[in-house]
Amino acid sequence: MPNMRESVTAALNSSLDSDEMHERPIDRLGAFSKSKRLGTVLWRLKYDNDPRCYKTAIFLLTKAMRKHGESRELCEKLCQCALDEWLVDKCLHCGGGGQVIFSQRLVNCMECSGTGIRRTSDKDRMKALKMNAEQVQKLGKRLGAIHDLIGEWDRKVNVRTMIELER
Ligand SMILES: [Zn+2]
Repeated sequence: MPNMRESVTAALNSSLDSDEMHERPIDRLGAFSKSKRLGTVLWRLKYDNDPRCYKTAIFLLTKAMRKHGESRELCEKLCQCALDEWLVDKCLHCGGGGQVIFSQRLVNCMECSGTGIRRTSDKDRMKALKMNAEQVQKLGKRLGAIHDLIGEWDRKVNVRTMIELER
């Protein structure tokens, strides 16, 4: 156990030193924690690969997105689909590299046109939602709105953390 007097004085000295402009991990965590829960849960899930945040993310997304009179089950299903698409955002064909070997040559991936970004098709969604093409098409706008909300929170956490850290 480190000497508490030493630990405290070291901390006091570092914070009193005006030349000390280094950002410490604890500062970043403090800044990060100023964001709302949905945002921090999304970051922990995607960028920290913390699977424990998955259920909470679905819960908070459903709470934010559920329309009056809509079944919880359907809304949860849609939030899960959008969240999964956001989490696995690399092209499934080339793994995000943008290129594949074709006839012994390295060529741009035909699935993502070389961008490496996953394109979700109605076919993928039919599989994920266990629905037919017509149902999936009808829900396209809803899924888009959930994606918008996720993207908005992803950006908000970034902006808030930067402001808190005075960057
Ligand atoms: Zn690709």
